[in-house]
Amino acid sequence: MPVQSSGETGGAESPFWKRLTLEEMSSEEWESLCDGCARCCLNKLEDWDTGEIVWTAIACELLDDESCRCADYPNRTTRVPDCIPLDPHAVRTLTWLPATCGYRLVAEGRDLYWWHPLVSGDPETVHEAGISVAGRTVSEADIPVEEYEDFVVTWPGERPD
Ligand code: SF4
Ligand code: SF4
Repeated sequence: MPVQSSGETGGAESPFWKRLTLEEMSSEEWESLCDGCARCCLNKLEDWDTGEIVWTAIACELLDDESCRCADYPNRTTRVPDCIPLDPHAVRTLTWLPATCGYRLVAEGRDLYWWHPLVSGDPETVHEAGISVAGRTVSEADIPVEEYEDFVVTWPGERPD
């Protein structure tokens, strides 16, 4: 989840996400690269035959649909074994990471979008831009697995441009 930072280190120096590789970032810089969209906290379905992955609007049971925050971030992997903590290797190899994800953008050599809190200075812009999942999910606690196909959506994988 995001840690607020200006992203600038002073003077005319480029912000850290343009200067550093994912591997070179400090823990604080790394955490701040998450825009708080929570798209990665949505359940996905994989076709066993083709390997194709599709998104659903069904969120992890620990996700708060309004704030897009994890209810127990420090213990998330214990509470939710399917939760995949991101590191540089994971960012470079997970094919389903959303196209708008701050980590993916930097790994691909792209800049962050205007709504990213590091750019806007405001953690609300990711919601105002319609990038976050806020208000668009149902909890996995309420949906039986056999009904997941009824909740397939495409927007989590889309880039606004
Ligand atoms: S998709 Fe990326 S930017 Fe969005 S919440 Fe997940 S890690 Fe953060
Ligand atoms: S445990 Fe937390 S961080 Fe992991 S998928 Fe669930 S809500 Fe997201």
